[in-house]
Amino acid sequence: MDLHLTAAQPTAEERAAVDAELGPPESGWDGGARQIATDGRAAFGGHESRSRRHLLLPVLHAIQERIGWISPGALNYASLRLDVAPAETHGVASFYAMFSLSPRPPVVAHVCDDIVCMARGAASMCSELERNLGPTGKPCADGRAVWLRSPCLGLCERAPAALITAAGENPRERVLAPAAAGAIEALVDDAVAGRLPAEIDVLSTERSLPQAGQPQLHLLHRIGDVDATSLEEYQLTGGYQALRRAFDLGPEGVIREVIESRLLGRGGAAFPTGKKWEALLLNKRPPHYVICNADESEPGTFKDRVVMEGDPFALLEGMTIAGLATGAEQGYIYIRGEYPFATERLRHAIRAARAGGFLGRDVLARGFDFDIELRRGAGAYICGEETALFNSIEGYRGEPRNKPPFPTQAGLFRQPTVVNNVETLVNIPEIILRGGAAYASIGTERSAGYRLFCLCGHVARPGVYEVPFGPTLRQMIDLAGGVAGNGRLQAILLGGAAGAFVAPKELDTPLTFEGTRAIGATLGSGVIMPLDDSVDLKPILLRIVAFFRDESCGQCVPCRIGAVRQEEALHRLIAGRPLGSIEKEIGALREMGQAMRDASICGLGQTASSALESALNRWSLFS
Ligand code: SF4
Repeated sequence: MDLHLTAAQPTAEERAAVDAELGPPESGWDGGARQIATDGRAAFGGHESRSRRHLLLPVLHAIQERIGWISPGALNYASLRLDVAPAETHGVASFYAMFSLSPRPPVVAHVCDDIVCMARGAASMCSELERNLGPTGKPCADGRAVWLRSPCLGLCERAPAALITAAGENPRERVLAPAAAGAIEALVDDAVAGRLPAEIDVLSTERSLPQAGQPQLHLLHRIGDVDATSLEEYQLTGGYQALRRAFDLGPEGVIREVIESRLLGRGGAAFPTGKKWEALLLNKRPPHYVICNADESEPGTFKDRVVMEGDPFALLEGMTIAGLATGAEQGYIYIRGEYPFATERLRHAIRAARAGGFLGRDVLARGFDFDIELRRGAGAYICGEETALFNSIEGYRGEPRNKPPFPTQAGLFRQPTVVNNVETLVNIPEIILRGGAAYASIGTERSAGYRLFCLCGHVARPGVYEVPFGPTLRQMIDLAGGVAGNGRLQAILLGGAAGAFVAPKELDTPLTFEGTRAIGATLGSGVIMPLDDSVDLKPILLRIVAFFRDESCGQCVPCRIGAVRQEEALHRLIAGRPLGSIEKEIGALREMGQAMRDASICGLGQTASSALESALNRWSLFS
């Protein structure tokens, strides 16, 4: 196609970054040297090069990581190599927060100022950084570094948190949690001097998994006990026994066990996993895809990160069983871009599983081909929505699609697809080994099995906790050592930013799907975030509505406009300047919330006002 490139040219380094991802160009038609003898008479590319559009996000990552920003020349070259119009390439690059389309220093400190970090001192840390490094977003010192405020980095058990990235030929990333202004500045200096430590913070078992080593664990039993990089140790602790049994059961047998287990998806929608898999198996239109949604971006949530860092082979085994059961030969893990250590762990695990015969052609010599590809997100919360995730993998803006068609009918590349999150998939080996009926007997009548909870905020021992469904909110907080901070509990955010605030008088609510529904809350992503009474809830609410305003993809009016209006109204209420009266302003907020719930295309818009409205329902914050 005629791409209408601008005159901007890529630098040699930008070309190298793209070519390292795609291989060298083959002709003048895809960015190579023009050879009149061949290229002058025939056109190369077309359908074949356009079929590589799904590589657009990896290409943009490669440029960003090498240069630190994506210039118009680099965008032109990416467009030429993939045969994608520059306007489209620009549209995709501008969608994701981790890509910069304006010059940016190579060293960036992403400093989380989201709700958990806020409750743990991020505001004063950011003020100190402002004093020492200058305003956020402005290059500091010699222009070789910049610090940016960031939404939740998924390190909430060790809040406050920061992520330092250094672009270059050998790009480096390092997380810092708990972070302090001085430590961030020191790491920035190291990164500018080319000395950012190569190793990324390893999983802190003690801080992330307070139950480590306890005998009752089923999903987390290896973490902290077993070398997560060793396929051998994984097998010695029961790993891949479930896959062997799954081969004996066959696809129908596996699905029967998963249906009997009554496993509901742990990503928030709580759809029966077995039914989803069955729908895919019954769809006879090949190819099928299995996707692991590891885009864990809900503020306050970090359990999937801990699992991926601490037991990556368990996720691969769960996905391989899903592939076997649903007739898929290809799986994708879509992991959020802010998880460098989990990404590294999974890359290693995939390589090791391939070498060991657990992935690739003829898995375990049982005549089944299945492989997994890892794709990194680039800072877009909405890509956790399954259809937005498909678009992102395909190389488009991460905008949700209308449903129907549902993913099992037309998902990734418009083919039948099943999407499960990390926690759902690590339950699968347990179900296959224990048997679906036995698994269903754990927990409660309507909430079967085990659940991972993310305890963060004002609790004595933050971290990921595994329990059979059933404990109350009070019991979970007690399990995490009780309320920390000043010890006087004010509120608990349940289920993350898209969840709901509940009051201390609701502490005896059972944490089951049905129990939380009964009080108008949700388990969501498993966040339990107690806040003591020193916390002012108003700025927390403002941060939540600002988060949704920022993360709305803007595709549909109720969400795009509603999120902005919500934030404006909240600003007015906090400033004591309501339109009309406080009651009228709150009434308008509730009406907007209802319109967003009723008319938004996807879950983001439908839940964006839940936390705000739950707080308005429980407390008189503005009178
Ligand atoms: Fe996009 Fe919001 Fe509409 Fe979802 S509800 S499609 S995030 S605008």
